[in-house]
Amino acid sequence: MKRNREIVVVCHCILNCNSKVEGLSEFKGAQSITIDLINNGYEIIQLPCPEMILYGINGWGHVKEQFDNLFFREQCRQMLIPYIRQFDEYLKNNYNIKSIIAVDGSPSCGYNKTCSSKNWFGELSGCKDLMNKINDIQMVEEKGIFIDELEKLLNEYNLEIPIVGFDELREDK
Ligand code: SF4
Repeated sequence: MKRNREIVVVCHCILNCNSKVEGLSEFKGAQSITIDLINNGYEIIQLPCPEMILYGINGWGHVKEQFDNLFFREQCRQMLIPYIRQFDEYLKNNYNIKSIIAVDGSPSCGYNKTCSSKNWFGELSGCKDLMNKINDIQMVEEKGIFIDELEKLLNEYNLEIPIVGFDELREDK
């Protein structure tokens, strides 16, 4: 049976927009880059969506600071360990994992940038400075927490797999 032995790993919502916070998806189902991957013969591994798993489908949008705690980091590691084991097995057996595609801008899955604010927290009803809170949110050149933990695990297990950031806002609609 023919197989390419060429794998690409994608963050969950690249194949399934439904995991994204309601209102944030700029596409209808799966990102069109996955068509290119399939047409070029890549096998695709889909990582779990940490925000969907931990907060459910009706969560609000968060910033990196809200996830930067030991519980969230530990949960990310637990979700990622089964994938790290798979990556190790493939790499040891003559498969190539071409890259891991992250989602830039996400507080969890951003690689080149993530959304950040030190003021985005608290009860919103009756909040007198809501616009100030919203306007305080900015993109910073840092990793999201899930990808940060993924990169640490890759280093801990000596797995050399490049991570690239995918910016869905730059994609043609
Ligand atoms: S960017 Fe990450 S956390 Fe956000 S919806 Fe996609 S997979 Fe889930």
